[in-house]
Amino acid sequence: MKVVTTIAALSAEIQAAKINEKTIGLVPTMGYLHEGHLTLAQAARAENDLVVMSIFVNPTQFGPNEDFESYPRDLPHDLALAESVGVDIVFAPSVEEMYPHDGGIRIHAGKQANVLCGASRPGHFDGVLQVVAKLFHLTQPTRAYFGQKDAQQVAIIATMVRDFNFPLEMRVVPVVREEDGLAKSSRNVYLSEVDRKQAPAINEALELARDSFLENGDVVEAIEIATVHIATRTNGKIDYIELLAYPDLIPVTDDTEQVLLAAAVYIGNTRLIDNRIFNVKEGL
Ligand code: AMP
Repeated sequence: MKVVTTIAALSAEIQAAKINEKTIGLVPTMGYLHEGHLTLAQAARAENDLVVMSIFVNPTQFGPNEDFESYPRDLPHDLALAESVGVDIVFAPSVEEMYPHDGGIRIHAGKQANVLCGASRPGHFDGVLQVVAKLFHLTQPTRAYFGQKDAQQVAIIATMVRDFNFPLEMRVVPVVREEDGLAKSSRNVYLSEVDRKQAPAINEALELARDSFLENGDVVEAIEIATVHIATRTNGKIDYIELLAYPDLIPVTDDTEQVLLAAAVYIGNTRLIDNRIFNVKEGL
């Protein structure tokens, strides 16, 4: 496995791969790898000649009062894990390498960013699109791998890929969970022992709400059930629990086929997200 930290070194590797007509799988991450990330890398390994994983905590997707500085980082451990699943190249640039100048040009995420995490984290998805577009240009992937854990991110990046004609295929991997159902996340390391015991209630709440919605199609009742479950099982503060048509992220109508049931909850000071995507007709 090669570790490259400069754009020049990455570009040399990509050019060589392209000359040899290799397919390229890109796995963008912010590091502090866990099984969720590794599942993406394994999917990329199975489908491509060359697997590139980026490890970069992208400052432009963090708000001023968010956890950019304290976001967990452990590059040596990440490199060992990446190598263990057959990643060929890790691209781990510095912030200066990725953003040497700022011409003020931004990609602005559209309507899909007005809800859920986009509403709570203004500018977050513009920052995500900025770094993902750069990574797409730099690695020229045949396929790019993302987790359904960040379902809104997937929907917004898919829109950018479609509207801006990025010549690649997006692959989406289901949410990887701990044994008790908590979605794996780099931020789980922030949880205290008490927090950690409470955190699986988010997944449980989504499951209850999903069952309720499939039974009677009532959005308000489904959200109420999830809200009550989290309120009674945790000391957490709900940021949002919403049920929207997916991937448009608009209110559910009679014509809606697929829905996203998503939650963001502060357990202690840690903001955790989780979701379910399912077909409305599943319950019939
Ligand atoms: P991050 O490092 O948190 O930016 O995540 C990098 C990629 O891994 C994103 O596409 C995430 O959606 C994906 N990912 C993170 N956690 C999980 C998980 N528990 N299951 C599946 N994919 C995940």
